[in-house]
Amino acid sequence: MELWGRMLWALLSGPGRRGSTLGWAFSSWQPQPPLAGLSSATELVSHWTRVFEKRGIPEARESSEYIVAHVLGAKTFQSLRPALWTQPLTSQQLQCIRELSSRRLQRMPVQYILGEWDFQGLSLRMVPPVFIPRPETEELVEWVLEEVAQRSYAVGSPGSPLILEVGCGSGAISLSLLSQLPQSRVIAVDKGEAAISLTHENAQRLQLQDRIWIIHLDMTSERSWTHLPWGPVDLVVSNPPYIFHQDMEQLAPEIRSYEDPAALDGGEEGMDIITHILALAPRLLKDSGSIFLEVDPRHPELVSSWLQSRPELYLNLVAVRKDFCGRSRFLHIQRSRP
Ligand code: GLN
Repeated sequence: MELWGRMLWALLSGPGRRGSTLGWAFSSWQPQPPLAGLSSATELVSHWTRVFEKRGIPEARESSEYIVAHVLGAKTFQSLRPALWTQPLTSQQLQCIRELSSRRLQRMPVQYILGEWDFQGLSLRMVPPVFIPRPETEELVEWVLEEVAQRSYAVGSPGSPLILEVGCGSGAISLSLLSQLPQSRVIAVDKGEAAISLTHENAQRLQLQDRIWIIHLDMTSERSWTHLPWGPVDLVVSNPPYIFHQDMEQLAPEIRSYEDPAALDGGEEGMDIITHILALAPRLLKDSGSIFLEVDPRHPELVSSWLQSRPELYLNLVAVRKDFCGRSRFLHIQRSRP
């Protein structure tokens, strides 16, 4: 994801801003008559930036630039041909910008407004309430790819691990791994129906449907794991729900009102799904298989002591990585069967 996208998310979900906009009621925006004299892309961006700022909408300028660029068929305002900055827009385009901006006034995340978002260079469809992939998760994918490059796998040639993703959401992690590991196969599971159908859609969109097995499954339900296709896997990767339950209320309205809480809320210590994945690992993983997880910065310690109290799982926390904000966010856990 380009820097702009990173900024948008860092501002929206970073610790400094989290909850800073609490207290804003939903918009009472009403359709208005066309704005006389306002017709170029640059003017529209300035106009909606001012409206958003007045209404306390975070990332006012970025939001309006994304919306105007989208309506003009570009991903970013910067990538628009300069000739389009000053050219008058059609009334249909103006209406469309107005409609999309009204959604932003209701605190809808830009990713849902545009209906697509980039992750690891892939353009993915985004549909509420399916979890929107965050830029830091790209770092998890990059770590997995680095590790894969250093190891050889039994099935096929080096660089062709069999991967299981728990909680695939839009399919961002699975599909970006598949796109960069042309020999690999992925089993992607999610308990949400909307997530499953969005992952299907994104897999088709990217022509990766032949190497992904998408399964509607709640991994906390024991029975569901008895028929894993393709046998034990080399890697388990997951960005599970890991927010501490008591922190859920602090989330920005964009997240709280539009994203599926089941993809965010990890229970009292954010560990509910993490511990399920770890407890199942001996059944899911090959003998020296690995688990890569995205977690909260409080989790490396919690996970480490949880694993120490369960030696029978033969799992070791072998590495912790920081995200681009310098917070410990990614775990590599390895199975070491004696
Ligand atoms: N990083 C996400 C957020 O802060 C939470 C991701 C998750 O629970 N998997 O909104």
